[in-house]
Amino acid sequence: MNKILIFDTTLRDGEQSPGCSMHLSEKLDIAEALEALGVDVIEAGFPAASEGEFKAVQSIAAACKNSAVAGLCRCKKEDIDKTYAAIKGAAHPRIHIFIATSPVHLERKLHIDQNRCLEIIDEYTRYARSLAGDVQFSFEDASRTPIDFLTKATQTAVLAGATTINLPDTTGYATPQETYRMVDSIINNVDGIENVVLSMHCHNDLGMAVANSLAGVAAGARQVECTVNGIGERAGNAALEEIVMALKTRENAFDAYTDVDSKKLYRTSRLVSSVIGVKLPPNKAIVGKNAFVHESGIHQHGIMQDKATYEIINPEAVGMPQNELLLGKHSGKHAFAQLADEMGYSLTEEQINAVFPAYKELADRKKEITRADIEALLAGHTRRIVKRIYALKDYEVSAYKNSASASVVLQTEGKTLSDKMSGDGPIDAGFKAISAITGQSFKLIDYQLHSVSEGKDALGEATVKLADGDVQTTGKGISTDVLEASLLAYVDATNKLLQYEA
Ligand code: MN
Repeated sequence: MNKILIFDTTLRDGEQSPGCSMHLSEKLDIAEALEALGVDVIEAGFPAASEGEFKAVQSIAAACKNSAVAGLCRCKKEDIDKTYAAIKGAAHPRIHIFIATSPVHLERKLHIDQNRCLEIIDEYTRYARSLAGDVQFSFEDASRTPIDFLTKATQTAVLAGATTINLPDTTGYATPQETYRMVDSIINNVDGIENVVLSMHCHNDLGMAVANSLAGVAAGARQVECTVNGIGERAGNAALEEIVMALKTRENAFDAYTDVDSKKLYRTSRLVSSVIGVKLPPNKAIVGKNAFVHESGIHQHGIMQDKATYEIINPEAVGMPQNELLLGKHSGKHAFAQLADEMGYSLTEEQINAVFPAYKELADRKKEITRADIEALLAGHTRRIVKRIYALKDYEVSAYKNSASASVVLQTEGKTLSDKMSGDGPIDAGFKAISAITGQSFKLIDYQLHSVSEGKDALGEATVKLADGDVQTTGKGISTDVLEASLLAYVDATNKLLQYEA
Protein backbone atom coordinates (compact mmCIF):
# COMPACT_ATOMS: atom_id res chain seq x y z
CA MET A 1 0.00 0.00 0.00
CA ASN A 2 1.12 3.52 -0.72
CA LYS A 3 1.59 6.08 1.98
CA ILE A 4 -0.11 9.38 1.23
CA LEU A 5 1.61 12.37 2.80
CA ILE A 6 -0.79 14.77 4.49
CA PHE A 7 0.28 18.38 3.93
CA ASP A 8 -1.82 20.64 6.13
CA THR A 9 -2.26 24.25 5.07
CA THR A 10 -4.78 25.35 7.73
CA LEU A 11 -2.28 27.93 8.97
CA ARG A 12 -1.57 29.34 5.50
CA ASP A 13 -4.42 28.89 2.99
CA GLY A 14 -6.90 28.58 5.87
CA GLU A 15 -5.61 31.49 7.86
CA GLN A 16 -5.64 33.86 4.88
CA SER A 17 -9.38 33.37 4.31
CA PRO A 18 -11.87 35.99 5.53
CA GLY A 19 -12.32 36.23 9.30
CA CYS A 20 -9.79 33.47 9.98
CA SER A 21 -6.78 35.47 11.17
CA MET A 22 -5.20 33.88 14.22
CA HIS A 23 -3.19 35.05 17.18
CA LEU A 24 0.31 33.54 17.47
CA SER A 25 -0.68 31.49 20.52
CA GLU A 26 -3.62 30.09 18.54
CA LYS A 27 -1.36 29.18 15.63
CA LEU A 28 0.94 27.36 18.04
CA ASP A 29 -2.01 25.50 19.57
CA ILE A 30 -3.09 24.40 16.12
CA ALA A 31 0.44 23.43 15.03
CA GLU A 32 0.78 21.34 18.19
CA ALA A 33 -2.55 19.63 17.52
CA LEU A 34 -1.59 18.97 13.89
CA GLU A 35 1.66 17.40 14.96
CA ALA A 36 -0.14 15.22 17.51
CA LEU A 37 -2.59 14.29 14.74
CA GLY A 38 0.36 13.01 12.72
CA VAL A 39 0.32 15.22 9.63
CA ASP A 40 3.51 14.96 7.58
CA VAL A 41 3.90 18.60 6.62
CA ILE A 42 2.57 21.76 8.28
CA GLU A 43 2.49 24.82 6.08
CA ALA A 44 3.00 27.53 8.68
CA GLY A 45 2.46 30.66 6.61
CA PHE A 46 3.89 33.10 4.10
CA PRO A 47 6.95 34.60 5.86
CA ALA A 48 7.50 37.44 3.37
CA ALA A 49 3.96 38.75 3.93
CA SER A 50 4.68 40.64 7.16
CA GLU A 51 6.88 40.75 10.24
CA GLY A 52 4.17 39.09 12.34
CA GLU A 53 3.80 36.29 9.81
CA PHE A 54 7.58 35.78 9.77
CA LYS A 55 7.69 35.46 13.56
CA ALA A 56 4.73 33.09 13.58
CA VAL A 57 6.37 30.78 11.02
CA GLN A 58 9.63 30.92 12.95
CA SER A 59 7.90 29.99 16.23
CA ILE A 60 5.99 27.12 14.62
CA ALA A 61 9.21 25.86 12.99
CA ALA A 62 10.92 25.83 16.38
CA ALA A 63 7.99 24.03 18.01
CA CYS A 64 7.54 21.15 15.55
CA LYS A 65 9.66 18.08 16.17
CA ASN A 66 8.17 15.47 13.83
CA SER A 67 6.19 17.21 11.10
CA ALA A 68 8.07 19.03 8.36
CA VAL A 69 7.40 22.78 8.38
CA ALA A 70 6.86 24.56 5.08
CA GLY A 71 6.88 28.28 4.30
CA LEU A 72 5.33 29.59 1.09
CA CYS A 73 7.11 32.10 -1.15
CA ARG A 74 7.04 33.65 -4.58
CA CYS A 75 9.86 33.22 -7.11
CA LYS A 76 11.84 36.15 -5.68
CA LYS A 77 15.21 35.94 -4.01
CA GLU A 78 14.11 38.09 -1.03
CA ASP A 79 11.00 35.94 -0.52
CA ILE A 80 12.99 32.72 -0.60
CA ASP A 81 15.67 34.10 1.74
CA LYS A 82 13.06 35.29 4.20
CA THR A 83 11.22 31.99 4.07
CA TYR A 84 14.38 29.99 4.62
CA ALA A 85 15.34 32.24 7.54
CA ALA A 86 11.91 31.60 9.09
CA ILE A 87 11.91 27.80 8.71
CA LYS A 88 15.55 26.85 9.03
CA GLY A 89 15.13 26.14 12.76
CA ALA A 90 12.63 23.35 11.98
CA ALA A 91 13.59 19.70 12.37
CA HIS A 92 12.51 19.29 8.72
CA PRO A 93 12.33 22.61 6.85
CA ARG A 94 10.64 22.78 3.45
CA ILE A 95 10.75 25.73 1.06
CA HIS A 96 7.53 25.94 -0.93
CA ILE A 97 7.81 28.15 -4.01
CA PHE A 98 5.17 28.81 -6.60
CA ILE A 99 4.48 30.48 -9.90
CA ALA A 100 1.32 30.50 -12.00
CA THR A 101 1.44 28.59 -15.29
CA SER A 102 -2.01 29.01 -16.89
CA PRO A 103 -2.44 31.32 -19.91
CA VAL A 104 -4.69 33.79 -18.07
CA HIS A 105 -2.23 34.11 -15.18
CA LEU A 106 0.86 34.39 -17.41
CA GLU A 107 -0.68 36.95 -19.75
CA ARG A 108 -2.91 38.97 -17.46
CA LYS A 109 -1.24 38.78 -14.07
CA LEU A 110 2.47 38.09 -14.54
CA HIS A 111 2.86 39.56 -18.07
CA ILE A 112 5.42 36.95 -19.09
CA ASP A 113 5.47 34.26 -21.78
CA GLN A 114 5.90 30.53 -21.30
CA ASN A 115 9.65 30.54 -22.01
CA ARG A 116 10.25 33.20 -19.37
CA CYS A 117 8.12 31.19 -16.95
CA LEU A 118 10.34 28.11 -17.51
CA GLU A 119 13.49 30.21 -16.93
CA ILE A 120 12.08 31.47 -13.63
CA ILE A 121 11.13 27.95 -12.52
CA ASP A 122 14.66 26.73 -13.26
CA GLU A 123 16.44 29.66 -11.63
CA TYR A 124 14.47 29.77 -8.38
CA THR A 125 14.19 26.03 -7.88
CA ARG A 126 18.00 25.88 -8.06
CA TYR A 127 18.32 28.83 -5.70
CA ALA A 128 15.90 27.27 -3.16
CA ARG A 129 17.75 23.96 -3.42
CA SER A 130 21.03 25.74 -2.67
CA LEU A 131 19.48 26.57 0.72
CA ALA A 132 17.33 23.54 1.57
CA GLY A 133 17.21 19.88 0.62
CA ASP A 134 13.42 19.81 0.63
CA VAL A 135 11.92 22.08 -2.03
CA GLN A 136 8.32 21.95 -3.20
CA PHE A 137 7.29 23.71 -6.40
CA SER A 138 3.64 24.58 -7.04
CA PHE A 139 2.23 25.55 -10.41
CA GLU A 140 -0.61 27.87 -9.51
CA ASP A 141 -3.73 27.20 -11.63
CA ALA A 142 -2.16 23.95 -12.90
CA SER A 143 -5.60 22.52 -13.69
CA ARG A 144 -6.20 25.28 -16.26
CA THR A 145 -2.72 25.00 -17.76
CA PRO A 146 -2.41 23.22 -21.13
CA ILE A 147 -0.98 19.77 -20.38
CA ASP A 148 2.00 20.22 -22.78
CA PHE A 149 3.19 23.29 -20.91
CA LEU A 150 2.45 21.79 -17.49
CA THR A 151 4.61 18.82 -18.51
CA LYS A 152 7.46 21.17 -19.53
CA ALA A 153 7.15 23.15 -16.31
CA THR A 154 7.24 19.97 -14.25
CA GLN A 155 10.21 18.64 -16.19
CA THR A 156 12.07 21.91 -15.62
CA ALA A 157 11.44 21.90 -11.87
CA VAL A 158 12.39 18.22 -11.56
CA LEU A 159 15.68 18.76 -13.42
CA ALA A 160 16.41 21.80 -11.24
CA GLY A 161 16.04 19.71 -8.09
CA ALA A 162 12.48 20.13 -6.79
CA THR A 163 11.60 17.23 -4.49
CA THR A 164 7.80 17.70 -4.53
CA ILE A 165 5.67 19.01 -7.39
CA ASN A 166 2.26 20.34 -6.48
CA LEU A 167 -0.50 20.65 -9.09
CA PRO A 168 -3.16 22.95 -7.63
CA ASP A 169 -6.71 23.35 -8.80
CA THR A 170 -6.50 26.94 -7.57
CA THR A 171 -9.95 27.97 -8.77
CA GLY A 172 -11.83 24.76 -7.93
CA TYR A 173 -12.69 24.28 -11.60
CA ALA A 174 -11.45 20.78 -12.44
CA THR A 175 -13.47 17.55 -12.48
CA PRO A 176 -12.18 14.28 -11.01
CA GLN A 177 -11.77 12.76 -14.50
CA GLU A 178 -9.68 15.71 -15.68
CA THR A 179 -7.59 15.61 -12.51
CA TYR A 180 -6.89 11.91 -12.99
CA ARG A 181 -5.83 12.48 -16.61
CA MET A 182 -3.58 15.42 -15.65
CA VAL A 183 -1.68 13.45 -12.99
CA ASP A 184 -1.52 10.34 -15.17
CA SER A 185 -0.10 12.34 -18.07
CA ILE A 186 2.56 14.02 -15.89
CA ILE A 187 3.62 10.64 -14.49
CA ASN A 188 3.95 9.17 -17.97
CA ASN A 189 5.71 12.07 -19.67
CA VAL A 190 8.21 13.57 -17.22
CA ASP A 191 11.67 12.00 -16.90
CA GLY A 192 12.70 11.37 -13.31
CA ILE A 193 9.16 11.85 -11.98
CA GLU A 194 9.58 8.64 -9.94
CA ASN A 195 12.07 10.52 -7.76
CA VAL A 196 9.68 13.29 -6.74
CA VAL A 197 6.38 13.34 -4.88
CA LEU A 198 3.36 14.60 -6.83
CA SER A 199 0.93 16.60 -4.75
CA MET A 200 -2.69 17.78 -5.02
CA HIS A 201 -4.07 21.10 -3.75
CA CYS A 202 -7.75 21.37 -4.61
CA HIS A 203 -10.28 24.09 -3.91
CA ASN A 204 -13.94 23.50 -3.25
CA ASP A 205 -15.71 26.07 -5.44
CA LEU A 206 -17.79 23.35 -7.11
CA GLY A 207 -17.78 21.04 -4.10
CA MET A 208 -15.23 18.71 -5.75
CA ALA A 209 -12.08 19.42 -3.72
CA VAL A 210 -12.00 16.06 -1.93
CA ALA A 211 -13.08 14.09 -5.02
CA ASN A 212 -10.40 15.79 -7.13
CA SER A 213 -7.69 15.19 -4.51
CA LEU A 214 -8.60 11.50 -4.38
CA ALA A 215 -8.71 11.26 -8.19
CA GLY A 216 -5.13 12.54 -8.09
CA VAL A 217 -4.23 9.88 -5.53
CA ALA A 218 -5.81 7.18 -7.71
CA ALA A 219 -3.60 8.37 -10.59
CA GLY A 220 -0.43 8.27 -8.48
CA ALA A 221 -0.20 11.50 -6.47
CA ARG A 222 1.38 10.78 -3.09
CA GLN A 223 0.71 14.00 -1.19
CA VAL A 224 -2.58 15.79 -0.52
CA GLU A 225 -2.74 19.39 0.66
CA CYS A 226 -5.75 20.05 2.83
CA THR A 227 -7.08 22.05 5.77
CA VAL A 228 -8.93 21.17 8.95
CA ASN A 229 -12.69 21.65 8.40
CA GLY A 230 -11.87 22.55 4.78
CA ILE A 231 -11.26 26.23 5.60
CA GLY A 232 -9.45 28.31 2.99
CA GLU A 233 -9.81 30.90 0.24
CA ARG A 234 -13.44 31.32 -0.95
CA ALA A 235 -15.24 27.97 -0.66
CA GLY A 236 -12.17 26.51 0.99
CA ASN A 237 -9.79 23.61 0.44
CA ALA A 238 -10.15 19.84 0.56
CA ALA A 239 -11.04 18.95 4.16
CA LEU A 240 -8.29 17.01 5.92
CA GLU A 241 -10.70 14.89 7.96
CA GLU A 242 -12.59 13.84 4.82
CA ILE A 243 -9.42 12.91 2.92
CA VAL A 244 -8.10 10.91 5.88
CA MET A 245 -11.35 9.06 6.55
CA ALA A 246 -12.01 8.37 2.85
CA LEU A 247 -8.58 6.76 2.59
CA LYS A 248 -9.05 4.87 5.86
CA THR A 249 -12.61 3.69 5.22
CA ARG A 250 -11.97 2.80 1.56
CA GLU A 251 -8.38 1.62 1.94
CA ASN A 252 -8.79 -1.07 -0.69
CA ALA A 253 -10.35 1.27 -3.23
CA PHE A 254 -7.29 3.55 -3.11
CA ASP A 255 -4.60 1.07 -2.05
CA ALA A 256 -3.29 3.86 0.14
CA TYR A 257 -3.07 4.94 3.76
CA THR A 258 -2.01 7.96 5.85
CA ASP A 259 -0.19 8.19 9.18
CA VAL A 260 -2.86 10.43 10.68
CA ASP A 261 -4.29 9.28 14.03
CA SER A 262 -7.98 9.47 13.13
CA LYS A 263 -9.03 9.44 16.81
CA LYS A 264 -7.73 13.00 17.06
CA LEU A 265 -9.73 14.33 14.08
CA TYR A 266 -12.73 15.55 16.03
CA ARG A 267 -10.62 17.22 18.66
CA THR A 268 -8.55 19.03 16.02
CA SER A 269 -11.68 20.07 14.14
CA ARG A 270 -13.16 21.55 17.32
CA LEU A 271 -9.97 23.42 18.07
CA VAL A 272 -9.87 25.07 14.64
CA SER A 273 -13.57 25.86 14.74
CA SER A 274 -13.13 27.40 18.18
CA VAL A 275 -10.09 29.47 17.19
CA ILE A 276 -11.78 31.04 14.17
CA GLY A 277 -15.15 31.28 15.93
CA VAL A 278 -17.06 29.47 13.19
CA LYS A 279 -19.45 26.64 13.98
CA LEU A 280 -19.62 23.72 11.57
CA PRO A 281 -22.86 22.88 9.80
CA PRO A 282 -24.43 19.89 11.60
CA ASN A 283 -24.28 17.75 8.45
CA LYS A 284 -20.55 18.36 7.86
CA ALA A 285 -18.98 15.03 6.84
CA ILE A 286 -16.90 13.26 9.53
CA VAL A 287 -16.98 15.98 12.20
CA GLY A 288 -20.47 17.54 11.98
CA LYS A 289 -22.77 17.19 14.98
CA ASN A 290 -25.13 14.93 13.03
CA ALA A 291 -22.50 13.00 11.06
CA PHE A 292 -23.31 9.81 12.98
CA VAL A 293 -26.89 10.49 14.10
CA HIS A 294 -29.62 8.21 12.77
CA GLU A 295 -33.01 9.85 12.87
CA SER A 296 -35.57 8.04 10.72
CA GLY A 297 -37.40 5.09 12.24
CA ILE A 298 -36.26 2.72 9.51
CA HIS A 299 -32.61 3.72 10.02
CA GLN A 300 -32.84 3.50 13.81
CA HIS A 301 -34.45 0.08 13.54
CA GLY A 302 -31.62 -1.08 11.25
CA ILE A 303 -28.93 0.30 13.55
CA MET A 304 -30.46 -1.50 16.53
CA GLN A 305 -30.29 -4.81 14.67
CA ASP A 306 -26.80 -4.25 13.33
CA LYS A 307 -24.80 -1.02 13.12
CA ALA A 308 -23.40 -2.13 9.77
CA THR A 309 -26.81 -1.46 8.19
CA TYR A 310 -26.30 2.30 8.12
CA GLU A 311 -22.95 3.07 9.72
CA ILE A 312 -19.77 3.00 7.64
CA ILE A 313 -17.61 4.78 10.21
CA ASN A 314 -17.59 4.17 13.92
CA PRO A 315 -17.82 7.61 15.59
CA GLU A 316 -15.16 6.55 18.10
CA ALA A 317 -12.74 6.19 15.17
CA VAL A 318 -12.74 9.97 14.78
CA GLY A 319 -12.87 10.70 18.53
CA MET A 320 -16.43 12.05 18.32
CA PRO A 321 -17.95 12.57 21.74
CA GLN A 322 -21.20 10.73 22.34
CA ASN A 323 -23.61 12.49 24.59
CA GLU A 324 -24.28 9.78 27.16
CA LEU A 325 -23.65 10.35 30.83
CA LEU A 326 -20.16 9.22 31.59
CA LEU A 327 -18.71 10.74 34.67
CA GLY A 328 -20.19 12.09 37.87
CA LYS A 329 -19.24 13.96 40.95
CA HIS A 330 -17.45 10.97 42.40
CA SER A 331 -15.39 9.98 39.39
CA GLY A 332 -11.69 9.98 40.07
CA LYS A 333 -8.71 11.38 38.29
CA HIS A 334 -7.96 8.07 36.62
CA ALA A 335 -11.39 7.75 34.98
CA PHE A 336 -11.12 11.35 33.88
CA ALA A 337 -7.67 10.86 32.32
CA GLN A 338 -8.82 7.72 30.53
CA LEU A 339 -11.80 9.47 28.99
CA ALA A 340 -9.61 12.38 27.87
CA ASP A 341 -7.32 9.88 26.19
CA GLU A 342 -10.24 8.24 24.32
CA MET A 343 -11.24 11.70 23.13
CA GLY A 344 -7.88 12.30 21.47
CA TYR A 345 -6.19 14.36 24.18
CA SER A 346 -2.75 13.13 25.17
CA LEU A 347 -2.48 14.89 28.52
CA THR A 348 0.60 15.06 30.67
CA GLU A 349 0.35 14.33 34.39
CA GLU A 350 0.79 18.05 34.94
CA GLN A 351 -2.11 18.96 32.63
CA ILE A 352 -4.37 16.41 34.32
CA ASN A 353 -3.55 17.88 37.70
CA ALA A 354 -4.25 21.36 36.37
CA VAL A 355 -7.61 20.56 34.81
CA PHE A 356 -9.00 18.13 37.40
CA PRO A 357 -10.05 20.78 39.97
CA ALA A 358 -12.02 22.56 37.22
CA TYR A 359 -13.74 19.28 36.46
CA LYS A 360 -14.67 18.84 40.13
CA GLU A 361 -16.00 22.36 40.23
CA LEU A 362 -18.10 21.70 37.14
CA ALA A 363 -19.41 18.48 38.67
CA ASP A 364 -20.64 20.50 41.63
CA ARG A 365 -22.43 23.00 39.40
CA LYS A 366 -23.85 20.54 36.92
CA LYS A 367 -25.69 17.28 37.57
CA GLU A 368 -24.75 15.37 34.46
CA ILE A 369 -21.33 15.63 32.90
CA THR A 370 -21.26 14.68 29.22
CA ARG A 371 -18.37 14.13 26.87
CA ALA A 372 -19.14 17.48 25.28
CA ASP A 373 -18.67 19.15 28.68
CA ILE A 374 -15.34 17.40 29.17
CA GLU A 375 -14.30 18.43 25.71
CA ALA A 376 -15.11 22.08 26.41
CA LEU A 377 -13.25 21.89 29.69
CA LEU A 378 -10.17 20.29 28.13
CA ALA A 379 -10.16 22.77 25.27
CA GLY A 380 -10.10 25.56 27.82
CA HIS A 381 -7.24 24.01 29.76
CA THR A 382 -4.96 22.61 27.09
CA ARG A 383 -4.79 25.72 24.97
CA ARG A 384 -2.03 28.23 25.27
CA ILE A 385 -3.19 31.12 27.35
CA VAL A 386 -2.89 34.50 25.78
CA LYS A 387 -1.36 36.75 28.41
CA ARG A 388 -4.25 38.01 30.50
CA ILE A 389 -3.74 41.73 30.42
CA TYR A 390 -7.26 41.93 31.82
CA ALA A 391 -9.05 39.25 33.81
CA LEU A 392 -12.72 39.20 34.75
CA LYS A 393 -13.00 39.46 38.51
CA ASP A 394 -16.63 40.16 39.21
CA TYR A 395 -19.84 41.46 37.66
CA GLU A 396 -23.36 42.39 38.60
CA VAL A 397 -26.25 43.20 36.31
CA SER A 398 -29.78 44.37 36.61
CA ALA A 399 -32.14 44.17 33.68
CA TYR A 400 -35.70 45.20 32.94
CA LYS A 401 -37.24 44.79 29.47
CA ASN A 402 -35.08 46.78 27.06
CA SER A 403 -32.84 48.44 29.56
CA ALA A 404 -30.10 47.07 31.71
CA SER A 405 -27.06 48.15 33.62
CA ALA A 406 -23.92 46.22 34.39
CA SER A 407 -21.08 46.72 36.85
CA VAL A 408 -17.93 44.91 35.86
CA VAL A 409 -14.71 44.47 37.83
CA LEU A 410 -11.52 43.64 35.94
CA GLN A 411 -8.09 42.93 37.28
CA THR A 412 -4.97 44.14 35.52
CA GLU A 413 -1.38 44.04 36.76
CA GLY A 414 -2.43 43.72 40.39
CA LYS A 415 -4.88 46.63 40.09
CA THR A 416 -8.63 46.29 40.32
CA LEU A 417 -10.67 48.49 38.00
CA SER A 418 -14.42 48.76 37.74
CA ASP A 419 -17.10 50.63 35.85
CA LYS A 420 -20.84 50.65 35.47
CA MET A 421 -22.66 51.19 32.19
CA SER A 422 -26.20 50.88 30.89
CA GLY A 423 -27.21 49.26 27.61
CA ASP A 424 -29.96 47.61 25.57
CA GLY A 425 -29.61 44.43 27.55
CA PRO A 426 -27.34 42.91 30.18
CA ILE A 427 -24.77 41.67 27.67
CA ASP A 428 -24.61 44.97 25.82
CA ALA A 429 -24.24 46.79 29.14
CA GLY A 430 -21.53 44.36 30.27
CA PHE A 431 -19.55 44.79 27.05
CA LYS A 432 -19.80 48.57 27.36
CA ALA A 433 -18.54 48.42 30.95
CA ILE A 434 -15.50 46.36 29.84
CA SER A 435 -14.73 48.87 27.06
CA ALA A 436 -15.05 51.72 29.54
CA ILE A 437 -12.53 50.08 31.86
CA THR A 438 -9.98 49.19 29.18
CA GLY A 439 -10.45 52.51 27.37
CA GLN A 440 -10.53 50.61 24.06
CA SER A 441 -13.25 51.19 21.50
CA PHE A 442 -12.84 47.99 19.52
CA LYS A 443 -15.61 47.21 17.07
CA LEU A 444 -17.85 44.26 17.89
CA ILE A 445 -17.99 42.21 14.67
CA ASP A 446 -19.78 39.12 15.88
CA TYR A 447 -21.26 37.68 19.03
CA GLN A 448 -22.54 34.13 19.32
CA LEU A 449 -23.78 32.00 22.14
CA HIS A 450 -24.16 28.24 21.90
CA SER A 451 -24.81 25.52 24.38
CA VAL A 452 -21.98 23.02 24.47
CA SER A 453 -24.15 20.14 25.62
CA GLU A 454 -27.80 19.36 26.31
CA GLY A 455 -30.03 19.95 29.30
CA LYS A 456 -31.03 23.02 31.23
CA ASP A 457 -27.74 23.18 33.10
CA ALA A 458 -25.67 22.94 29.89
CA LEU A 459 -22.45 24.88 29.54
CA GLY A 460 -22.77 28.00 27.43
CA GLU A 461 -19.98 28.86 25.02
CA ALA A 462 -19.75 32.48 23.94
CA THR A 463 -17.75 33.73 20.97
CA VAL A 464 -16.89 37.40 20.54
CA LYS A 465 -15.13 38.80 17.48
CA LEU A 466 -13.57 42.23 17.93
CA ALA A 467 -11.83 44.36 15.32
CA ASP A 468 -9.24 47.08 15.49
CA GLY A 469 -9.01 48.38 11.93
CA ASP A 470 -8.22 45.36 9.71
CA VAL A 471 -7.23 43.08 12.56
CA GLN A 472 -9.84 40.76 14.02
CA THR A 473 -9.54 38.45 16.97
CA THR A 474 -11.87 35.82 18.34
CA GLY A 475 -12.46 35.46 22.07
CA LYS A 476 -14.10 32.54 23.85
CA GLY A 477 -15.77 32.08 27.18
CA ILE A 478 -17.33 29.01 28.73
CA SER A 479 -19.57 28.92 31.77
CA THR A 480 -22.88 27.53 33.02
CA ASP A 481 -23.88 31.21 33.22
CA VAL A 482 -24.29 32.69 29.73
CA LEU A 483 -23.60 36.22 30.94
CA GLU A 484 -20.32 35.17 32.51
CA ALA A 485 -19.40 33.23 29.34
CA SER A 486 -20.11 36.35 27.25
CA LEU A 487 -18.06 38.69 29.43
CA LEU A 488 -15.16 36.19 29.52
CA ALA A 489 -15.26 36.00 25.71
CA TYR A 490 -15.23 39.80 25.40
CA VAL A 491 -12.24 40.08 27.75
CA ASP A 492 -10.44 37.26 25.91
CA ALA A 493 -10.91 38.95 22.51
CA THR A 494 -9.71 42.25 24.01
CA ASN A 495 -6.56 40.62 25.41
CA LYS A 496 -5.79 39.05 22.04
CA LEU A 497 -6.34 42.25 20.12
CA LEU A 498 -4.11 44.23 22.49
CA GLN A 499 -1.29 41.73 21.84
CA TYR A 500 -1.75 41.19 18.11
CA GLU A 501 1.37 41.49 16.00
CA ALA A 502 0.74 42.16 12.33
MN1 MN B 1 -5.03 27.54 -2.27
